[in-house]
Amino acid sequence: MAVPFADAFGRRVKYLRLSVTDRCDLRCRYCMSETMEFLPSKQLLSFEELDRIAGCFIACGVETIRVTGGEPLVRKEIVRLFRGLSRHLSSGGLRELTLTTNGTQLARHAEDLHALGVRRVNVSMDSLDPEKYATITRGGSLARVLEGIEAARRAGLAVKLNAVALKGFTETEIDDLIGFAHRGGMTLTLIETMPLGEIGSDRTDQFLPLTALRRQIEQRWTLVDLVERTGGPARYARVVETGGKIGFITPMTHNFCGDCNRVRVTASGVLHACLGQENAVDLRRILRGGGEDADLIDAIGSAVSGKPRGHDFQIGPGGRPSLRRHMSATGG
Ligand code: SAM
Ligand code: SF4
Repeated sequence: MAVPFADAFGRRVKYLRLSVTDRCDLRCRYCMSETMEFLPSKQLLSFEELDRIAGCFIACGVETIRVTGGEPLVRKEIVRLFRGLSRHLSSGGLRELTLTTNGTQLARHAEDLHALGVRRVNVSMDSLDPEKYATITRGGSLARVLEGIEAARRAGLAVKLNAVALKGFTETEIDDLIGFAHRGGMTLTLIETMPLGEIGSDRTDQFLPLTALRRQIEQRWTLVDLVERTGGPARYARVVETGGKIGFITPMTHNFCGDCNRVRVTASGVLHACLGQENAVDLRRILRGGGEDADLIDAIGSAVSGKPRGHDFQIGPGGRPSLRRHMSATGG
């Protein structure tokens, strides 16, 4: 293995979020505005380019790759990318190949993903009420997502659910989400909204601190904090009544950066060592300028060594985002 990627604070980078598209078949209100401009397809990395970048990260110690977007499963022939990357699972270079998806296309891909070595998927679903689901996603079909979750489980994939906490919305959804997740043996992870990108409305209207949501949860359920960590930003608690787990990701109310081991590459090949800062390195320029893998590894290594200690998310005046790029562009 080449020299492992590590930053100035001694954090080893072992986890890559690889975005394969900035496009999506939904328009979640906390993620996108109604009208979005997407990248021209020429600017997206090809599967061969994505594969080369992944190989460089794996050569320097990355053990987990999470494919994301936008919605990764709307990229045409996405299974081809997984097929290529799965060789690193067989060789032992990669411990885990996984994805985060909105679930709408999961039913038709679940078996292929499992056959290629994917064992877990995160599915984002903010409500179990079809109308509310359609409202929050601006037109999405809950039935398709539920079908996708069912197909994933049938195919042998472990499913985790993600829900973004939204003021005036999640308070009425949370008990159903906990019940549904835990009846199916799925962990439910709650995420505070981060001020990433223009969404066409005031972000302060949406923000629901997880401290407040947790207080509400505790009126009905008994939570016991767990010491276990999965290497990610979530802190977990067990719900005594169900035996299931709830994860809390709190970028806004508690900084979660102390042991951050991850970096992100956007669909156009921009490496962000931190989700919440502007520092970035253009890997596509190196790829398309005829650079060797050694050049990519050098560029990645220096971006990682400059990884900031932490993000500084704040919702700006008038509910403005603190960063202009959307979560869907960076790769959530
Ligand atoms: N489309 C896929 C999905 O929705 O799971 C993958 C990409 S999406 C950007 C990844 C995760 O980011 C989702 O769980 C979504 O809920 C979350 N997300 C999107 N915008 C966010 C924001 N502004 N703050 C916090 N989480 C956000
Ligand atoms: Fe699409 Fe995921 Fe963003 Fe929703 S959160 S708009 S599903 S990229």
